[in-house]
Amino acid sequence: MSVIPLSKPDIGDAEIEAVTDTLRSGRLSIGPRQARFEELVADRTGRRHGIAVSSGTAGLHLSLLALGIGPGDEVITTPFSFIASANCILFVGAKPVFVDIDPRSLNMDPALVEAAITDKTKAILAVEVFGNAAHMEKLAQIAQAHEIPLIEDACEGLGGSHNGRPVGSHGRAAVFGFYPNKQITTGEGGMIVTDDGRLAEFCRSTRNQGRATMSGTGSSAYGNVSGSWLAHERLGYNYRLSEIAASLGCAQMERLDQLLDARRRIANAYMQRLCDVEDLILPTIDEPNHMSWFVFVVRLNDHYGHTERDRIIEGMHRHEVGASNYFPCIHLQPFYRETFGHNKGDYPVAESVSQRTIALPFFGQMDDTTQELVVQTLKVMIQREQLLQR
Ligand SMILES: *Cc1c(COP(=O)(O)O)cnc(C)c1O
Repeated sequence: MSVIPLSKPDIGDAEIEAVTDTLRSGRLSIGPRQARFEELVADRTGRRHGIAVSSGTAGLHLSLLALGIGPGDEVITTPFSFIASANCILFVGAKPVFVDIDPRSLNMDPALVEAAITDKTKAILAVEVFGNAAHMEKLAQIAQAHEIPLIEDACEGLGGSHNGRPVGSHGRAAVFGFYPNKQITTGEGGMIVTDDGRLAEFCRSTRNQGRATMSGTGSSAYGNVSGSWLAHERLGYNYRLSEIAASLGCAQMERLDQLLDARRRIANAYMQRLCDVEDLILPTIDEPNHMSWFVFVVRLNDHYGHTERDRIIEGMHRHEVGASNYFPCIHLQPFYRETFGHNKGDYPVAESVSQRTIALPFFGQMDDTTQELVVQTLKVMIQREQLLQR
């Protein structure tokens, strides 16, 4: 690991106490902490239901299943994202149909989404890339006009908003992820939020081996009685979140605003320190989007390609400063190329952006000296490229 890591979870005494309490309680799965965590995330995002699951990916999988998406169906999504947002479409046997991105927000271009809709399109799966909620209202309108659901992969956007509405409140269902680099963490974990009671019931059942849920699903003779524990009404999975993880999640949610503020301060300080660096494009956040900072990703201008970008990242690593190439395009990943025959040039904006991005070390507890060291190292590596280009 680098001396300056790319990310670092913010775990305080409250989190450690919460986990210790859970361990002492003897109740390690399916208990009051899960219920409390679900309530906290649902309330924060203005939704009626929260369903805690073992990862963001699991949450996306169950959401697509709940919406009845399967073989022969198409789901429109972005090629510029973490691979889970497309993989979940393959889990249910449907086909991801990629559309290119808007170069400012880095989210899907709504006009291209609209143009890609066919008779086979059964959902739009939109990602709030790097925590930017741009275009969510427009995408929800397009989905509504075509009578298909919008699913929000909100795994990078907890705490952000668009037009005053929280990330997670735009789609029929939205999914958060709690891997250690996210705004809050449970180690591994995720959460589906929705206002749709039937969808929530389905997800509660399928995360737990397809068991009948406490409120019953109506179709079972075992409904509502204690014997329902062994009634498996449908094919399900073990996507449960432990009480240990849920208690960590509760403690993090109690501190959410503090965690988000700290990240915002670090992001703003980066903006100040980097605004005069030649050849660098900083993140753009346009009204009416309120960013929840997931990562801090800068981009080289288009005089640079992936060779130069990769060399800069390697140079930073040599100085033990974390840096990464968020995100390689999903359609150009070997598995996707082989399965779907995608080629370079299919989504030119996403590809052009993707080969020039650099994610910098980013976490709430970063101090001034550390940030200055990151900035100086980046500047030196860029100057080195400028020399090489002369
Ligand atoms: C983090 C993330 C996920 C979920 O990841 P898990 O590791 O499964 O929790 C999904 N989509 C995007 C865009 C993400 O960034």
